[in-house]
Amino acid sequence: MDFSLSSDQILIRDTVRQFMETEMRPIVREYEAEKRFPAAQVKRLGELGCCGMLIPEEWGGAGTDTISYALMIEEVARVDASTAVVLSVTNSVAAAPLLNHGNEAQKKKYLHRLGRGEILGAFCLTEPGAGSDPAAIQAQAVRAGDHYVLNGTKIWVTNGDVAGVNVVFAKTDPNAGARGVTAFLVEPSFPGFRISRHEDKMGLRLSHSVEIVFENCRVPVENRLGEEGQGLKIALEALDGGRVGIAAQSVGLAQGALEAATRYAKQRRTFGKPIAEYQAIQWMLADMETEIEAARALTHYAAWVRDSGSQRLGPPAARAKVYASEMANRVAYKAVQVHGSLGYSRESDVERMYRDARVLTIYEGTSEMQRMVIARDLLRGAGGR
Ligand SMILES: Cc1cc2nc3c(=O)[nH]c(=O)nc-3n(C[C@H](O)[C@H](O)[C@H](O)COP(=O)(O)OP(=O)(O)OC[C@H]3O[C@@H](n4cnc5c(N)ncnc54)[C@H](O)[C@@H]3O)c2cc1C
Repeated sequence: MDFSLSSDQILIRDTVRQFMETEMRPIVREYEAEKRFPAAQVKRLGELGCCGMLIPEEWGGAGTDTISYALMIEEVARVDASTAVVLSVTNSVAAAPLLNHGNEAQKKKYLHRLGRGEILGAFCLTEPGAGSDPAAIQAQAVRAGDHYVLNGTKIWVTNGDVAGVNVVFAKTDPNAGARGVTAFLVEPSFPGFRISRHEDKMGLRLSHSVEIVFENCRVPVENRLGEEGQGLKIALEALDGGRVGIAAQSVGLAQGALEAATRYAKQRRTFGKPIAEYQAIQWMLADMETEIEAARALTHYAAWVRDSGSQRLGPPAARAKVYASEMANRVAYKAVQVHGSLGYSRESDVERMYRDARVLTIYEGTSEMQRMVIARDLLRGAGGR
């Protein structure tokens, strides 16, 4: 077993780290206060290949392995978790289903531009009445000759106001339950596409989450992704891959919080010495470090499973996601604690990280849903290795 990173993986990690330190760190606090989308920085990350890491080079992407992708997301989230979700959604739940299920013409039209970072992607599954239970979606698409007429409301769409292509799920056969869902590639310029609301969020405030209303939206038949009825399979497969990205985002956020806490512990003095000299603080830092390493190992293992195809990705991705996302919340809590009152101030990075961490156990499948996947696998007798 070899735990070392390849020279390519190290190069990717270090290049992204340098970019985030020099171009992103100086502006994060100001942008977050203004809920401003970091368009120029995301464009630059796209030019570095970060929007299409899993897309093969022939389709305009960077064509890297999933561990490289996880390292990229981790380095971005170490400085700013908002930008990490922008990239994670584009790579994992927009580009990946297009790569796996798109036809030649769809790939030519959208994948090249996604791979080069010219457009971002969005994933529109959640509705007011359907989150954890996606088979309950109400959006409908009715075929009318050479197009579908799409009606419905999608909420919490990450990148929804900046994406060039949206992967949208709607029922083409409302009586067929989970088998009646179909996926579509919808451009914001299609008639009947309207952004109706921006969420005012606790965290991840540089990334935008919007509600989209589809009102008799005309979607050409050639923009159906896969066959009618395959939509939920496409969505769930994309989410399995997406969870590796969210686990990496969690590891990166926690790493950033630990580094901030370690720096502060060495600087801050009480009773005549740095707080880093107290065992209470040291144990917090030691637990943070240990949990981050455990989460990173689970994440890289799931990334390896994704590439090797050695087993179903669902359970390892769920284990990485549930552990890493809950770990990030524990680590961010401790990082605030180490900072004392400063950790409660908007002046500190850990205050933002604490808020940003909260969503990690909710989106791309809640912790409860991850545990359901893990327990089902275990009870079927397939758990372990
Ligand atoms: C910042 C942000 C970004 C998002 N981005 C996107 C996006 O880009 N695209 C998209 O489609 N969606 C997105 N979402 C939506 C997200 O995926 C859903 O919020 C999530 O799947 C949970 O759905 P829900 O909020 O409807 O909660 P519910 O499904 O209503 O769940 C509520 C609670 O009940 C629990 N629960 C539900 N069913 C069960 C059960 N059977 N057993 C035990 N517990 C259960 C849940 O775990 C949760 O704790 C985003 C959400 C947020 C907050």
